[in-house]
Amino acid sequence: MALVEFRQVRKQFIDQNKKPFTAVEGSDFVIQDKEFVVFVGPSGCGKTTSLRMIAGLEKQTSGDIIIGDRIVNDLHPKDRDIAMVFQDYALYPHMTIRENLSFGLRNLKKPKEYIEQKVREASNILGLDHMLDRKPRELSGGQRQRVAVGRAIVRDPQVFLFDEPLSNLDAKLRVQMRVELSELHKRLGATIVYVTHDQVEAMTLGERIVVMNQGVIQQIASPAELYANPKNMFVAGFIGSPAMNFIDARVERDRIIVDGGSFGLPEDVAARLSAYSGKEIVLGIRPEDIYGDDFAPGVSTEHRLQARIQVVEHLGSENLVYFHVGNRLVTAKVHPETQGYNGLSKEFILDLRKCHYFDPATQERIT
Ligand code: ATP
Repeated sequence: MALVEFRQVRKQFIDQNKKPFTAVEGSDFVIQDKEFVVFVGPSGCGKTTSLRMIAGLEKQTSGDIIIGDRIVNDLHPKDRDIAMVFQDYALYPHMTIRENLSFGLRNLKKPKEYIEQKVREASNILGLDHMLDRKPRELSGGQRQRVAVGRAIVRDPQVFLFDEPLSNLDAKLRVQMRVELSELHKRLGATIVYVTHDQVEAMTLGERIVVMNQGVIQQIASPAELYANPKNMFVAGFIGSPAMNFIDARVERDRIIVDGGSFGLPEDVAARLSAYSGKEIVLGIRPEDIYGDDFAPGVSTEHRLQARIQVVEHLGSENLVYFHVGNRLVTAKVHPETQGYNGLSKEFILDLRKCHYFDPATQERIT
């Protein structure tokens, strides 16, 4: 069983001013055998440090790390049965692809036939057969990336660790490699832990996603669950593109009041918000849940918001319309045939069934 578990793992660094700095705080999770889990969050949130602690490249300050059925706290990286693929691929430029692929196994003094077979299998899986005698500089970025993955595959590890492996590729190649990595996961049936700061990459690759911010895990859930039920404003704003809009609102019994509109709340929502009557809350609504007033199929058209349009971006399949509600800039992703952008002011329809409500003090979702 190649599960990976953190039990109250904490990592403190000593910064330049010799002050302790907590990069990872009380991290708790279990990654199941054969699961593809993505760590995502903004720069500096502690995702790479978490991955490096699994690899044993960084020692946790406290807590336990388990891989398979062993506590690996004191195990050297090479004894942890993991393989890591780095952002810069770390290929040896003077070696051929074949030599790059076989290097680790040669170091482990594996038999020649065994090494040849492993290199053959990996290059076959990754489509590298006809370039084994080339040097890394003779390969494209995507091919080099595959070699880096191949080097991990030949070692047959219990767990694959990926640290932003696609960030050096152009946008089109990234999409292609994303599909290849998903297929590879199915084919290898391996446990994969993958770090990225790109929420689209996280959503498309991860079976489950660990969202981190400032060293603290915010939520662990499937992509669909994160999208539908974000636990707090950080997750709500981080997952989804364009990002969820936050609008300052006030609850008055069974109504909610925002700058430019006032809506009757569905009964169940009014009950949920009853403790907030007379108080400020934050209403969260995704750009795709705001409609132009002439194109809102299947949505109650009662919940209208009057707003002055700032900018419209025409993307072909949809239009992004930007307007202010109070001090907040709001984005609506509307049907490209929605009319009436040229006027200064327009009515938008909010799908209140899709709204989220947050406590402004705690930033937690009100459930
Ligand atoms: P990025 O996406 O930019 O790589 P990250 O989420 O992977 O960010 P980490 O590399 O895990 O972030 O770093 C977390 C925090 O710990 C950062 O504030 C970073 O500056 C700090 N940090 C990382 N390594 C060290 C170190 N060796 N010494 C001191 N501080 C460190």
